[in-house]
Amino acid sequence: MSFIVGIDGPAGSGKGTVTKKIANKLGLINIDTGITYRCVALEVINQNVLLEDTNKIIEITKNIKINIDNTPNGDIVYLDGKDVTKDIRSKEVTKIVSQVSSIKEVRFIMVEMQRKLAEGKNVIMEGRDICTYVFPNADVKIYLDASIEERARRRFKENQEKNIDMTYQEVYDNIKRRDENDKEKEIGALKIAEDSIVIDTTNLSIDEVVKKIIDIITLKNKF
Ligand code: C5P
Repeated sequence: MSFIVGIDGPAGSGKGTVTKKIANKLGLINIDTGITYRCVALEVINQNVLLEDTNKIIEITKNIKINIDNTPNGDIVYLDGKDVTKDIRSKEVTKIVSQVSSIKEVRFIMVEMQRKLAEGKNVIMEGRDICTYVFPNADVKIYLDASIEERARRRFKENQEKNIDMTYQEVYDNIKRRDENDKEKEIGALKIAEDSIVIDTTNLSIDEVVKKIIDIITLKNKF
């Protein structure tokens, strides 16, 4: 038996930060599914593969070995044994990841991996299609949103803290492009599941969002 909390939403909606906090507070395993697509995108760059070369990208996805180490200081990500925690957040990866994750076969392989990661465990999983596609029967379904200006502001600040070199305008344009692309995907598009609870985080603090979600989870009487 496993207990699944699904958190969907666009880039900068607060998913990553609140998911980690809730996982720590409730003792849930935190799975950031964006990491899996970012690893594929990084490997595409490392192997100099063209985005048009779908077959090669699918082959890369089939052979990729991703390990995610959940630590109190955040996830440490290993790709074929190498620590790529910082590399997967680079400007170059962020630019192509949405396009890479639009490839149907890439999604099938990654979704299978995501479901396996959750097998038999109590997890909080964040992404774009968790409540609609990966776990349509999740015990708790949340969709986080915020205005694009606020999301770009948050991501810009986060990038500065992580020494990722992108201007505010670059961050804004990237988020806008990714939103559009993520919403139009044939499979696993970013959309609100019918039974998801929508929380607009534009004017809420992280702790307020965390509290709201914990209250919703607690109502399910599981923790
Ligand atoms: O969440 P993050 O911004 O790291 O995700 C990177 C990209 O991976 C997203 O823009 C989206 O294109 C893709 N993604 C996805 N489905 C998920 C999680 C992420 O398509 N469940």
